[in-house]
Amino acid sequence: MNRVVVAGAGLAGVRSVEALRARGFEGEIVLLGQERHRPYDRPPLSKAVLLGTSDSSFVDSDLATLEVDFRPGVSATGLRAGVVETSEGDLPYDGLVIATGADPITLPGDGQQHVLRTLDDALELRARLVRGARVVVIGAGWIGAEVATAARRAGCEVTVVEAGPAPLSQAVGAELGARTLPWYDGIELRLDTMVASVDEGGVRLVDGEFLEAHVVVTGVGVRPAVEWLAGADIDLHNGVVADEHLRASLPGVVAVGDCAAWWSRRYGTRLRVEHWDTALGAPEVAAATLLGEDAVYDPVPYFWSEQFGHMVQYAGHHPAGARLLHRGGPEGKWSACWLTEDDTLAAVLAVDRPRDLVQGRRIIDAGPRMDPERLVDPDVPLRDC
Ligand code: FAD
Repeated sequence: MNRVVVAGAGLAGVRSVEALRARGFEGEIVLLGQERHRPYDRPPLSKAVLLGTSDSSFVDSDLATLEVDFRPGVSATGLRAGVVETSEGDLPYDGLVIATGADPITLPGDGQQHVLRTLDDALELRARLVRGARVVVIGAGWIGAEVATAARRAGCEVTVVEAGPAPLSQAVGAELGARTLPWYDGIELRLDTMVASVDEGGVRLVDGEFLEAHVVVTGVGVRPAVEWLAGADIDLHNGVVADEHLRASLPGVVAVGDCAAWWSRRYGTRLRVEHWDTALGAPEVAAATLLGEDAVYDPVPYFWSEQFGHMVQYAGHHPAGARLLHRGGPEGKWSACWLTEDDTLAAVLAVDRPRDLVQGRRIIDAGPRMDPERLVDPDVPLRDC
């Protein structure tokens, strides 16, 4: 193999370059990045960058030492077998890593709506979050909650509009999401409320009400950035379809990070996980696969969010219908576990209880049966349940 092209210069892209070199690949690597920045981490954008304690989050990797031909501002625009079409012409490849991430979903309307995906988005939004600004955040999911945290801290008048019955309800269900309601103190939270459009000067709700706003932030989710593959002979379904080795349907092509929908052996289903840990870990396996080694990607997915002064962590994957058990705790610190039918741990959510998260993740990996009666006692360490 002479040349590997990596499409997408986010975390998964740069980690793919590192993994290829670490495995001894000495050929040419071209890294295509639609953005003009060198690779950076996104989690700090809605935390330290938005809060103003940091101005950037560049990934600590030395592109010169990696001897990678990094092409900022160049997009992959199409794919034929053995050739990536780019905004600067055709680029033949022997191996291709698809790491184009995800794009934020926006809502109808002509009004200005901020999204938070890139460093430029974060810096632009931060400049608008000033004391007294009327800010409407659409969506009380992970990003919406973190933006609301920063906006309230900046002294803005914040309204959060959420279509579901509770914050985070899509991610963890309404019952657990409702436990975060007290965190919205000082914020107007509108639940079960649908936005029709973002118009000049504010947000129009489906029932006709208009919420005035100086700043509107839309945080209603992302979709895999695979439009550039629309005409290509490659399977796409909720992202790039990949097997457990992260191999896409086109020979010599692997997919990693937010854009990859890979087959999970552990869960017996296809997963597409939009979390940092996946972008960090999957490239090891993708690089090995590309170089002809037999590697399987089978992690216990992990995610964290920092909102309203709380550390929220989730590990695992809970199918619909998994049994939910609460582990209360002192001072508002709590966790919850999802059990499968045979009492193995499917997933754990921990709020300011990092030990539950760490132990829970190991337990999910190992797969022992749990004792539900011990599990609901927060004083019993999870590993002893
Ligand atoms: P990306 O980071 O999206 O990188 C893909 C890159 O490809 C982008 O730079 C994009 O411009 C480029 N690209 C797209 N299309 C093309 C093309 N056609 N040609 C060339 N380049 C292209 N996860 C957590 O676990 N915890 C958190 O707290 C957390 N916080 C987050 C906060 C924010 C604001 C955001 C946006 C995400 C957060 N995440 C968090 C998610 C995590 O950052 C992502 O899962 C991770 O960035 C995915 O990495 P990636 O490399 O797959 O995709």
